[in-house]
Amino acid sequence: MSDYVKELMAMVKAKNPAEPEFHQAVQEVAESLALVFDRHPEYRSARILERIIEPERVILFRVPWVDSKGDVQVNRGFRIEMNSAIGPYKGGLRFHPSVNLGILKFLAFEQVFKNSLTTLPMGGGKGGSDFDPKGKSDVDVMRFCQAFMSELQRHIGPDTDVPAGDIGVGGREIGFMFGQYKKLRNEFTGVLTGKGLNWGGSLIRPEATGYGSVYFAAEMLSTRKQTLEGKKCLVSGSGNVAQYTVEKITQLGGKAVTLSDSSGYIYDEQGINAEKLAFVMELKNVRRGRIKEYTDKYKSAVYTPLTGKEDANPLWNHKADCAFPSATQNEINGKDAANLVKNGVYVVSEGANMPTTIDGVNIFLNAKILYGPGKAANAGGVATSGLEMSQNAMRLGWTREEVDNRLHMIMKSIHKTCVTMADRFGTPGNYVNGANIGGFMKVADAMMDQGVV
Ligand code: NAP
Repeated sequence: MSDYVKELMAMVKAKNPAEPEFHQAVQEVAESLALVFDRHPEYRSARILERIIEPERVILFRVPWVDSKGDVQVNRGFRIEMNSAIGPYKGGLRFHPSVNLGILKFLAFEQVFKNSLTTLPMGGGKGGSDFDPKGKSDVDVMRFCQAFMSELQRHIGPDTDVPAGDIGVGGREIGFMFGQYKKLRNEFTGVLTGKGLNWGGSLIRPEATGYGSVYFAAEMLSTRKQTLEGKKCLVSGSGNVAQYTVEKITQLGGKAVTLSDSSGYIYDEQGINAEKLAFVMELKNVRRGRIKEYTDKYKSAVYTPLTGKEDANPLWNHKADCAFPSATQNEINGKDAANLVKNGVYVVSEGANMPTTIDGVNIFLNAKILYGPGKAANAGGVATSGLEMSQNAMRLGWTREEVDNRLHMIMKSIHKTCVTMADRFGTPGNYVNGANIGGFMKVADAMMDQGVV
């Protein structure tokens, strides 16, 4: 680690104690940017990175609500408005009991670089709550969403800050929040993305993160003149990102063999084909059940329960070609990364945000596999949110093919930026450096142009 990164990290840790995920995200970016600062001292003297690390605004609020039993509940709400140098703040809302300030700051920080890579004019933000939608009735979810939006609405707007979904926030939650925003503000605007198709949503938005992560893997494979045809793929998670990752893998001729949730994972040697995926979508999106039920229906699959306390996750210890972590942060540690490499995995495309620990990332980089970090590989979701904003602004909707083509082009462009920047700064094939540097340059130049604000 260079002296500059050491000093910066000491400052970040002192100023932001007890935020390990935020420290991790900043360290990874700072290490890449040390290469840039050697050639561009003007960014260092303007303290661009120090400014990006400090959120422009943090909003923290009480969310009191009355559940359907008549009991009073109190949750905590957040919105981190990280950086608006290149556009309105943009980034998802996460509802999960693990949500805290440090996790949302890491996500908002990553979002700044990711949004810049998409080529679209979007700043970075993130938000959410420690509310847990799991096991709650639709009525209780609606009551919470309304209470949450009653406060959030005064801080967001289509030209200011445009939230979307993330873990625990899908179409149902976006609908309830949009309804409340519209009622309180008396305006029908594109203030949220991930909306329903009948009321301003975009075709392909639900599919976009998963599809984009597979398009990115296909681009990485193409640098070795290969395709996904016949490739065996490990996928984690079973939510929005995981589902459409499996769909696109299958469409491109690959075979996805695993899915998981926080209770365990299934391994289906025969592959999760379109029919089995339709079962998973109904199980997860409608019945809101557990992935274990997959093995009740499909006897070809084996279920392994997990406590989350294992020193290595057996999901990452199967022979395969590709891995698509699509659940949550730090789900691949050093041991898991070593197991993946040992088992022949040479493509990792991160659908989730920061799913690999720094140890794990170093193992992938040293093994010189095709490793696509989340801020590049999963940028298709926010990119398509950007396309939803464009359609809302024009008050028209593009066809499925139009949006999918644009998504595909954006993923190709992000891949090209990563490759070009990694080459330019002397680390060919290093997509981590490529993504961090490519994302940074555009934001840094905009901040230089706009003065110290
Ligand atoms: P989701 O639909 O809520 O699904 C999340 C999945 O991950 C579920 O299967 C969940 O299992 C599992 N999971 C969540 N927390 C976990 C934990 N602590 N341990 C083990 N499993 C856990 O969320 P999603 O939208 O697919 O998001 C997945 C990842 O992709 C996140 O890292 C998110 O930030 C990232 N991402 C999402 C988008 C997007 O457009 N949605 C865009 C870019 C990146 P349980 O049901 O048991 O909790």
